[in-house]
Amino acid sequence: MKNVVPQTIKITKTNESKIGQVDFENLSFGKVFTDYMFVCDYVNGKWQTPEIVPYSPLTLDPSARVFHYGQAVFEGMKAYKDDNGDAFLFRPDENFKRINKSSARLAMPEFPEDYFFNGLNTLLKLEDQWIKPGFGNSLYIRPFAIATQASVSASEADEYKFLIICSPAQSYYSGDVSVLVAEEYSRSANGGIGYAKAAGNYAAQFYPTNLAKQEGYQQIIWTDADTHQYMEEAGTMNVFFRVNDSLLTAPTSDRILDGVTRKSLIALAEKEGITVDVRPVKVSEIVEAAKDGSLKEIFGAGTAAVVSPVKAFGYSGEHYELQKQENSYADHFKKALMDIQYNKAEDPFGWRYKI
Ligand SMILES: *Cc1c(COP(=O)(O)O)cnc(C)c1O
Repeated sequence: MKNVVPQTIKITKTNESKIGQVDFENLSFGKVFTDYMFVCDYVNGKWQTPEIVPYSPLTLDPSARVFHYGQAVFEGMKAYKDDNGDAFLFRPDENFKRINKSSARLAMPEFPEDYFFNGLNTLLKLEDQWIKPGFGNSLYIRPFAIATQASVSASEADEYKFLIICSPAQSYYSGDVSVLVAEEYSRSANGGIGYAKAAGNYAAQFYPTNLAKQEGYQQIIWTDADTHQYMEEAGTMNVFFRVNDSLLTAPTSDRILDGVTRKSLIALAEKEGITVDVRPVKVSEIVEAAKDGSLKEIFGAGTAAVVSPVKAFGYSGEHYELQKQENSYADHFKKALMDIQYNKAEDPFGWRYKI
C-alpha cells in the first residue's frame, strides 16, 4: 500500500496558544492537549495531503464504522527535552512499525513512513514549548487511526482518518500496585488481536479490572486464555518477574503486545550482565517463588509509567506480599532508561531520535 510521496503538510495556525492557561505543576495524565493536531484522510484508496490544524473536535457521521465495528488502532510515545532544550523521541520507528502491524490486523490501510515522520517532526516543532525540560516531564504523543466511512454495513471501511494528538505529562508516583492474577477473564486469545494496539483490547479489560478493584487490586495480570496457567501481561503493560537476581518475562506472541519498553529493558539488562529468561512464565512457579522468598520483584513496563512496581498479587483466593527491595531492579532500570531518554547518558543502542 505505497503511496505518492507528499512533502507538503498544510498548516493552519491558531492566533493564540492555550499554553498560558495550563498548570504544568499539576497535570493529570491525558487531560490537557496541545494547540495543534495532525490529521490525514484516506479516501479513494489513498492518503490525502496531511494537515496540521488547531486542536479541535471532529465531525463524524453517526454511522462511521469506528463506532460500530471498532476499527481503531493507536500508539503511545513520548517526547523528552534535555537541559540544552533539545527534544528527543525514543525509538519512534518501533511505534511506526507497530501501528501499521496493528492496522494490518484490523484490515486498515498502512500509513506511509514519510507522512508519519514528517508529520511528527513538524507537529513537535510547532509544539516545542509544550515539551517541558526537567527529568520526568514529557509530551505524551498519541497517534491513532479510525474508520470514518459512513455506513453500518459490516465490513472493513474504505475511508479512514489518521491523527496525532499530544498531551503534556509528568512522571508521577502512583504508588506500588497490587495485582490480581486472572483465572476467568482474558484480554486476548490465540489468533486474536492481543498483539495489536487496538482500542477494543482496552474496552475488553475495563470490566474485569473493575471486578478486581472491588477485591482491592488495581490491575490484573493476564494469563493465557486456554489454561490461565501462564503469566502474560500486567494491565496494559508487559510484565517482568525478578527471581533471585534473574529476570523472567514471557515471549511475545499473538496474545502479547511487543512493547518498546519491554524490549529496551531486556537489552539494558543483558548489557549489564543480568540474566533475562524470555520464556513462558508459569503462575505456579511464581507462587512457589513468592512462598520461598526467591521472588524479589514484579514490575510492569510501558511508555506511560516506564516501570511500575507491583507490591503484592492475589491468586486463587491467596494474597502474596513482596518485600520491599533495597536497590530494586525496578528503580535501577527505570532510571537507566530515563537517563537515555533525557539525553543524560550515552545511547549505545542508538535509541534516541532528535526532533
Ligand atoms: C502499549 C502496551 C504495552 C507497552 O508498550 P510500550 O511500547 O512499552 O509502551 C504493553 N502491553 C499492552 C497491552 C499495551 O497496549
